[in-house]
Amino acid sequence: MTAPRIDVDLEKIQLNAQCLVNRLRPRGIGVTGVTKGVCGYPEIANAMLQGGVVGLADTRIANVEQMRRAGITCPISMLRTPMLSQIDRITKHCDASYNTEIAVITSLAEAARRRNKVHGIILMVEMGDMRDGIAPGDLDTIAREVIKMPGVALKGIGANYACLNGTVPDDKTMAGFSMLANDIEGACGPFIETVSGGNSVNLPWAMSSQKPGRINDLRLGEAILLGVDPISGQQIGGLYRDAFTLIAEVIETKSKPEPPTAPIVETASLRLRILPDCCDKKRSILAIGHQDIDISGLVFPPGVAPVGATSDHLVVETNDHRLQVGSEVSFQLNYSALMRSMSAPGIEKIMRHSGASPIPDLAKRNRSELALV
Ligand SMILES: *Cc1c(COP(=O)(O)O)cnc(C)c1O
Repeated sequence: MTAPRIDVDLEKIQLNAQCLVNRLRPRGIGVTGVTKGVCGYPEIANAMLQGGVVGLADTRIANVEQMRRAGITCPISMLRTPMLSQIDRITKHCDASYNTEIAVITSLAEAARRRNKVHGIILMVEMGDMRDGIAPGDLDTIAREVIKMPGVALKGIGANYACLNGTVPDDKTMAGFSMLANDIEGACGPFIETVSGGNSVNLPWAMSSQKPGRINDLRLGEAILLGVDPISGQQIGGLYRDAFTLIAEVIETKSKPEPPTAPIVETASLRLRILPDCCDKKRSILAIGHQDIDISGLVFPPGVAPVGATSDHLVVETNDHRLQVGSEVSFQLNYSALMRSMSAPGIEKIMRHSGASPIPDLAKRNRSELALV
């Protein structure tokens, strides 16, 4: 089989989605599957849908178009506030979008009217992450304008946490956000259908809180795809961590003398050298590099340590002789490495159904806990 490649286990993605959907349902929270981490690959989007997510969301219109071309008809939202230059494509392919700018909403409304459609508007509220969002104090005014505009319908409000800075949502923050839905309804009238509380970072709150309030949606990417809590990096109980495996091929293995002088620049990857300084070490080169992958986001297998990388070479050190030329090395990935490798044209994507079953001890576990293990 060709290398480098990324092996995608669709069954595990479906099971992860299903597990999260089942655990959030009793709290009245539905799951929107976020596909931006995997470039909107339709097979992966379908695995999420089979796992029970109610809709999909992506930050890039090209990914949405790819899913539509593959015949996916479920509701898809645009997660990033639309570019004015892409408004027509967005009203064509997305049912709704997350918005913060009235100029953009006005343009969406015009484009939707031209298509005889009504485009859903979810207003993104600034709740402390300081990335995108409308200040809570300005929400009423903007909501009123949206309600008056033909071509768009105010569908909901959204919050986002811990993307730009590390604001982690707690009960108090989420109760504050929940109240905003009531406030808008009180001030402007219409029922706020979607109250989207955030992303994978919200899971510890969602699983432990006794009071989800008005929050009835979470937009989950990383937790479904990688089975981890983004803040701690810890595995979420009941979820597979290894739905994705990156495989690279060895093209050279030799004993190399230590460099005659100390390296001039101590790069982050050099500092990662972790093998004991004792035995007969070998250096190997894998045919993959910065051009394909975020090397710092790879989890190396035991006994293989990174030395450094260039655009097309990844140099590793081992203290045995396993890495024959032509053999393969497998890695797990973090979200950033996953994103980069899924969008790299030089990496083959192999989609398969492994026949994996739900993680067994889940049934015994209290469904309401997050159980990070
Ligand atoms: C990426 C993104 C998400 C999904 O985040 P995960 O941490 O992958 O769950 C949700 N909302 C917005 C606005 C995003 O950009």
